[in-house]
Amino acid sequence: MSVNADLVIAGSGLFGLTVAERCARDLGLRVLVAERRDHLGGNAYSEVESSTGIEVHRYGAHLFHTSNERVWEYVNRFTSFTGYRHRVFTIFKGRVYPMPINLGTICAYFGRAMSPDEARALVAEQAAEVTDPANLEEKAISLVGRPLYEAFIRGYTAKQWQTDPRELPPEIITRLPVRYTFDDRYFNDRYEGLPAGGYTAWLERMADHPNIEVRLGTDFFDLDAAGNVPVVYTGPLDRYFDHAEGRLGWRTLDFEPEVVATGDFQGTPVMNYADEDVPYTRIHEFRHFHPEREYPPDRTVIVREYSRFAEAGDEPYYPIDTAADRVRLLRYRDLARAEKGVWFGGRLGTYQYLDMHMAIASALTMYDNRLRPHFAARGTKGAR
Ligand code: FAD
Ligand code: UDP
Repeated sequence: MSVNADLVIAGSGLFGLTVAERCARDLGLRVLVAERRDHLGGNAYSEVESSTGIEVHRYGAHLFHTSNERVWEYVNRFTSFTGYRHRVFTIFKGRVYPMPINLGTICAYFGRAMSPDEARALVAEQAAEVTDPANLEEKAISLVGRPLYEAFIRGYTAKQWQTDPRELPPEIITRLPVRYTFDDRYFNDRYEGLPAGGYTAWLERMADHPNIEVRLGTDFFDLDAAGNVPVVYTGPLDRYFDHAEGRLGWRTLDFEPEVVATGDFQGTPVMNYADEDVPYTRIHEFRHFHPEREYPPDRTVIVREYSRFAEAGDEPYYPIDTAADRVRLLRYRDLARAEKGVWFGGRLGTYQYLDMHMAIASALTMYDNRLRPHFAARGTKGAR
């Protein structure tokens, strides 16, 4: 397939679309976005379930949150956001608790009212067994003590990672706050919300420019672009180099959707399942992400989420990042640096877990520091 563009972007996720939008609107470049899937938007894509009209995020629930002023200003050019605030509950042995662990969780679990100081003192006593945490289990015990760890973290983490928590890095658990107040919000960021008109309308608006062509169902490797047009590549890093240094490990998720004949299945958007003998990690009920919308009173869409190691052909979702992966990643980074006229970005292109706001921020940085100077030096229009 031939290419008639100033810049080719492999992948139409938030990273690729941000670069496309900036280069087309700000520099007047003709941008071709090649997207392997039959829709744009990468993993943030959502669609309407036809029998209920409920918006479902096809690749797992996506909650937008950021404290980055520039990113917040940028995304508001394409969509407004609802006032949605994410809250999660978890079920352990038939009882429901707020998650992440906060004063409400601690009081409910130990079955008595405690002040913040009392709860702190109790957890400190239970956490004292670990002084120098070297893995996820030890880190979690050092943060919340063994009883809360065994109830809310051990089983869930084992299901999510299929790996003994003693073999996982401590950083994974520090993504979750522990609070000695009744604040049960999931995120700490200044800005939070869901795109009022849905994710797909937002993503389509980013690509809506006469200089941007999105070619769906098109694998970048089938384009005849190599060598003559600058490229921003947001597909898997190892695939670009034909897995020459071996495959980078990923976790994948299986989503099991079901339309249920009730107006409310679980009373909240996300319910985690902490018990190890429940095979799924959580259930999403998508109507609750948009309480401001009119949805049917007698039907609802739920999605059970299961986690496992990705095999060839599975969607790569979360980098596993073992020591062996990190060694391979360094070799791929060297290869990537040596690749002239190709910039690697996004979560697949850098083998990094990136939230949406981080993918957008890193695309804006690539635009500022690499792409704009590159095209300015060559004279913008028609640059090769
Ligand atoms: P992607 O969205 O993955 O886009 C990459 C695109 O490249 C894909 O469309 C792919 O088809 C395409 N592609 C790959 N190879 C080729 C090729 N050879 N040719 C053509 N096209 C190709 N972030 C949040 O902020 N909040 C959340 O709540 C949240 N929840 C998440 C839940 C899950 C289960 C996952 C996996 C991620 C979640 N994220 C969340 C992160 C969010 O999905 C990412 O920040 C975002 O997808 C990053 O965009 P990207 O462009 O880097 O990658
Ligand atoms: N986690 C847990 N119990 C929960 C929720 C999360 O033990 O109810 C742990 C789990 O190890 C998970 C980590 O906290 O990988 C980070 O949680 P987050 O919700 O950020 O996970 P994600 O779904 O983004 O992987």
